[in-house]
Amino acid sequence: MGRTKKSKIFQAQRGMHDILPEGQKYWHYVLKKAESLIEDYGFEKIETPILESTGLFLRGTGETTDIVEKEMYSFMAKGGDDLTLRPENTPGVVRAYLENGMSVRPHPIKLYYFGPMFRHDKPQQGRYRQFYQLGLETLGDDSQAADAELIFIGHKLLESFGLKNHSVQINSIGDQNCRPAYVRALRDYYKIQLKKVCVDCRNRFKKNVLRMLDCKEEGCQGIKKDAPQMMDFLDDDCKAHFKHVLEFLDEARVPYMLNPHLVRGLDYYTRTVFEFTPDDNPSDAIIAGGRYDRLVDLLGGRKTPATGWAMGVERVILAIKDKNINVPEAQSKPKVFLVQLGDAAKRKSLLLFESLREAGIDTKSSISRDSIKSQLRIAHRLGVRFSLIFGQKEAIDGTVILKEMDTGIQETIPLEKIVEEIKKRLKK
Ligand SMILES: [Zn+2]
Ligand SMILES: [Zn+2]
Repeated sequence: MGRTKKSKIFQAQRGMHDILPEGQKYWHYVLKKAESLIEDYGFEKIETPILESTGLFLRGTGETTDIVEKEMYSFMAKGGDDLTLRPENTPGVVRAYLENGMSVRPHPIKLYYFGPMFRHDKPQQGRYRQFYQLGLETLGDDSQAADAELIFIGHKLLESFGLKNHSVQINSIGDQNCRPAYVRALRDYYKIQLKKVCVDCRNRFKKNVLRMLDCKEEGCQGIKKDAPQMMDFLDDDCKAHFKHVLEFLDEARVPYMLNPHLVRGLDYYTRTVFEFTPDDNPSDAIIAGGRYDRLVDLLGGRKTPATGWAMGVERVILAIKDKNINVPEAQSKPKVFLVQLGDAAKRKSLLLFESLREAGIDTKSSISRDSIKSQLRIAHRLGVRFSLIFGQKEAIDGTVILKEMDTGIQETIPLEKIVEEIKKRLKK
């Protein structure tokens, strides 16, 4: 206190960003389209806390995943609880499903969520440390139809945003019956190449060899090309499941590419895994997901098959901007601007404003501005058709001046008639 030194201006954390008023229209556009489509398909919204026990992600997301090993914002809270800002929301949704007794409701249970996630990752174009995901989860349905429905919705959603030229990369990673043999084959393959892979991959070889297929390093990519494929190890059940998913997609005319080395970075996936990527940049997933038949029992519930995906909203918005897709303004343009001058008029103008608003006439005002000039400047900038000028004299007389902005013609109207008068003129 008492020091005159100029205080420093704070900045947002690295990798975190503000969504300013002028950017809101993109969020509005994406969310409105998404919620309406998703709800048409019977998904219901769920909101879960941003903070969860760290243990939920250790067990759910998996201790050997990059997310858990390197990217979580974890801390000890007052009272000693070990908490984490959620890096993804599937474990949180499953926790809520179990905790709230949803497992006794008729299945399948179809849920969707939207909200911020947090990963201490290297910030890049369209990738943030606080980023928003919109996700779908279908719990209690082991059918290929549930997987296909989710993929179909993802396809339709991108289409509804105006994002063509995206396709689905898809693979099956089998289940606990057939995957162990594949993991052994993968270990045999990589064992003799260990000198050629990156440091991270040498680590992955020890902890979770599947994860080596996720590596983005160029050298590792080259070695991956000849690695064994899960497809050759699927047992009959998993093979049939995958074949039927593909048949559904063929029937629904969803374009897809088989990617025999797609595994996804999370531990809980079983069978179908998929990613939506732009055709001109197939390593840049915009929607990603898969089946996770073991997560519910891993988190203490009864074995419950499930499937889901999450969409990176910032990346969708970046693609919409890149493609110059025409996005409507989030708020409609106001029709009327209310100019008020002097204290008496200001006091009475709140009720006048409210009667216009109640009549459905989109009105703006700037109650703290004093000069008529500065208020009319705002009216011009907003592009309204009419300004209402409400001064000391009008407040006493019970009238208001109606000014047509195009022509500049003004007319005095009794207050009780003004709503009708504007409605009449707006119809013209
Ligand atoms: Zn299997
Ligand atoms: Zn590597």
